[in-house]
Amino acid sequence: MTNPESAGYDYDVVISGSGLAGSAAAILLARRGVRVALLERRSDPEAYKVLCTHSITANAYPVLDELGLVPALEKAGAMSNAARWYTRWGWIEPKAAPGGPELPHGYNIRRSVLDPLLRSRAVETPGVEVLLGHRVTGLVREAGRTVGVRASTPQGEREIRARLVVGADGKDSAVAKLAGVPARVHENARFGYLAHFRNLPLPGGIGQTWFLEPDMAYAFPNDDGVTVLAVLPDKKRLPAFREDLEGSFLDFVRALPEAPPIDSAERISKITGTVDYPLHSRRPTAPGVALIGDAALTSDPLWGVGCGWALQTAQWLAEAVAPAATGRQGDLDRALAAYARTHRRRLSGHQQLAADYAKSRPFNPMERLMFSAAARDASLARHMYLFAARLIGPLRFLNPLAVAKSSVVNIKHRGATAPAAHLSHTGS
Ligand SMILES: Cc1cc2nc3c(=O)[nH]c(=O)nc-3n(C[C@H](O)[C@H](O)[C@H](O)COP(=O)(O)OP(=O)(O)OC[C@H]3O[C@@H](n4cnc5c(N)ncnc54)[C@H](O)[C@@H]3O)c2cc1C
Repeated sequence: MTNPESAGYDYDVVISGSGLAGSAAAILLARRGVRVALLERRSDPEAYKVLCTHSITANAYPVLDELGLVPALEKAGAMSNAARWYTRWGWIEPKAAPGGPELPHGYNIRRSVLDPLLRSRAVETPGVEVLLGHRVTGLVREAGRTVGVRASTPQGEREIRARLVVGADGKDSAVAKLAGVPARVHENARFGYLAHFRNLPLPGGIGQTWFLEPDMAYAFPNDDGVTVLAVLPDKKRLPAFREDLEGSFLDFVRALPEAPPIDSAERISKITGTVDYPLHSRRPTAPGVALIGDAALTSDPLWGVGCGWALQTAQWLAEAVAPAATGRQGDLDRALAAYARTHRRRLSGHQQLAADYAKSRPFNPMERLMFSAAARDASLARHMYLFAARLIGPLRFLNPLAVAKSSVVNIKHRGATAPAAHLSHTGS
C-alpha cells in the first residue's frame, strides 16, 4: 500500500475551489479512500455564488442522494422544481402520466443555503482537509506533468504536492489557465439580470419560464418563501435597458404573459446580473489535472444546468479516478481518459445546442416542431421535460419517433383548427 507521504505527496488529490463541484468531489473521493486537500480562495465558510438562480435540474438528484444531502435540503425548505414553460403556442405543462410515476425532480434552493451546507459536509468528511483562504496561484510541474499547486495563504506562499490536481474553480479556472488548457468560447448574445422577492405567488406554486424568442425570463420559487426572477433579453436591448435598470426590469416582468404580480411583491435583493457571459468548453483533463464543473464547461445560464453538471462531473470524476488516485490500483492517466470520455459523451451535445441558441435567435424549424407539439401533447411535454432536466441527451430528445410523433400532433392540431385558420396566424 502506498501512502501519499511515502510517494512524496502531501495528499492524493488537491482540489482548487470549494463550490458545488469541488466540495462534492472532495466528499465523493474521500469516501472512496482518497486523501483530499480542498482549497478555497475565500476565507468565509459561508461564502456562496451570488450570480445564480439555483434551480438544480433532476439529473443532479442521484448525486445529491449519494452525498446524503436530500433530507437536509428538504429540511432547509428546498422546493421540488416542477415547472411550466410559455411558448407562442401556449404553455407546456409537463405532468406525470395518469397512473404513472412522478416526474423526476431536482430542487430550487438558494446558493446561500446550498454552498455552505455542502462545504460543511466536506469539512466533516474523514479524509478531506478544507483549507480556506488558499488561492491557487501556480502549478508544480515535473517532467511535463502537474504534481501539485502553489497557493497564496494568510501565512504566505505554500506548495502542496498531490498525484492529481482538480480544477473546480469556476469558469475562469486558474488551474485550467495554469495548465495551458485552452477554452473554446461561444458568444452569448443575451444579457441577464435577477432579483429575489417575497410575496410573489406563481401559478401552481411552480417555476415559470418564458420563451419569448429571442428574449427569455424565468421565475422560480425557492426555500423560505423567496422567489427568484430573472430576465435574459437580447443584447440589442442592453443600452436602453441600462438607462433605468430597475424600471426596465420591472417593465419587462410586467409585460410577460401571465405576469407574476411584481408590483405587490417585496424585493429583498439588489437587481444583479451579467452583461457578458460567454459559454466555455475545455478539454477536461491534462497530465496530472482534471477539470470539473464550470472549469470544464460553462453553459448558458438560461438553461439552468450548471449546478447539476457541477455535481455530476464531480461524481463521474470520483468514480473514474478514485482507485488510481490513491496510488494503490490502476493507472491514473487511463482513469483520466475514462473521465474525459464520459464528460464528452454526456455533455458535448448539450453544449452544442446551447451555444447555437445563445446566438439569441428565434426558434429554428426543429425547435418550433418540438416546442409547439409539446404545448399540445402531454407525452411530448414529458419528453421535453426529461431533456430540460438533462435526463436524456439531444440524440434521444430528437429521436425519429419523437420527431414523427411531434409532426403527427401538429398535423392533427392543424386539422382540428383549420376552419378558424383564416382568422389567426399561429406561426406553426
Ligand atoms: C446568472 C446565472 C444564473 C445561473 N442560474 C443557474 C441555475 O438556475 N441553475 C443551475 O444549475 N446553474 C445556474 N447557473 C450556473 C451555476 O451558477 C454554475 O454552473 C455553478 O455555480 C458551477 O459550480 P462550480 O462549483 O463549477 O463553480 P463555482 O460555483 O463558480 O465555484 C468555484 C469556486 O472556486 C473558488 N475559486 C476560484 N478560483 C480559485 C483559486 N484560484 N483558488 C482557490 N479557489 C478558487 C471560488 O471562490 C468558488 O468557491 C447560473 C449562472 C449564472 C451566471
